[in-house]
Amino acid sequence: MEFFDSHAHYNDEKFDADRQEILKQIYNSHVKKVICAGYSVESSKKAVQIAKTEDFVYAIVGISPNDIPQCHHAKEEKQESRIFENQLQEQLRQIETLAKQEKVVAIGEIGLDYYWNKENKENQKITFQKQIKLANKLGLPIVIHTREAIYDTLEILKGEEKPVKKRNFPLLSTKLRLNKRRAKIRVLYLFCWTNYF
Ligand SMILES: [Zn+2]
Repeated sequence: MEFFDSHAHYNDEKFDADRQEILKQIYNSHVKKVICAGYSVESSKKAVQIAKTEDFVYAIVGISPNDIPQCHHAKEEKQESRIFENQLQEQLRQIETLAKQEKVVAIGEIGLDYYWNKENKENQKITFQKQIKLANKLGLPIVIHTREAIYDTLEILKGEEKPVKKRNFPLLSTKLRLNKRRAKIRVLYLFCWTNYF
């Protein structure tokens, strides 16, 4: 039997010392395809780099809700939103360049995380929406990270800028608390297992 790991972070610095060796071991353990997920510009660059050197590794690139630009040093709100927008624009420009590289199969991981970050929900939403728009522009699917934020995530997915390709929910911690909306979530969750290839 062969396995496909749809979401791994071998771009993490924890693997810097023995990445090649670990990848060799997992390949020999029948994991024949791996998607290495970016979560920031730097980690996305690294995912693309790994995909270039390892035949069985593919990359996704994006800015996660926990890695959006921070502007705590701004003196007032207006200045803060200007700094945020400028930094975000620059980061998205880099993500777009990376997304056009060979073996990049989706924009991700992107989404909302109110477990780790409750203070910047609006900025998370803006970043998520802009990356859905980017994915649509490039004709790529998205890979979603959502934690304690499923309702807002669904609102965005139903909104003006809907993703045009298949979706993936690797982190769906609020799934069990959903009651009425559960049926709908199941449908979305199934997309997790659709192929990128
Ligand atoms: Zn992840």
